[in-house]
Amino acid sequence: MNDNQKPVEKACPICGRPAAAETKPFCSKRCADVDLSRWLGGVYRIESPDRPDAEEADERE
Ligand SMILES: [Zn+2]
Repeated sequence: MNDNQKPVEKACPICGRPAAAETKPFCSKRCADVDLSRWLGGVYRIESPDRPDAEEADERE
């Protein structure tokens, strides 16, 4: 028999780890922050190093 006495913990929607009580339903404040930023539509965008228009602006003729 298999008796599950453990409470069903929701997994963090960001990384899949078990959620913490303080930061439900996320595992950490960091993940909560990530989700929040996604929710807001990328207001807190993570700066990515790839900029398409950084250099390469010299036109040759
Ligand atoms: Zn997480």
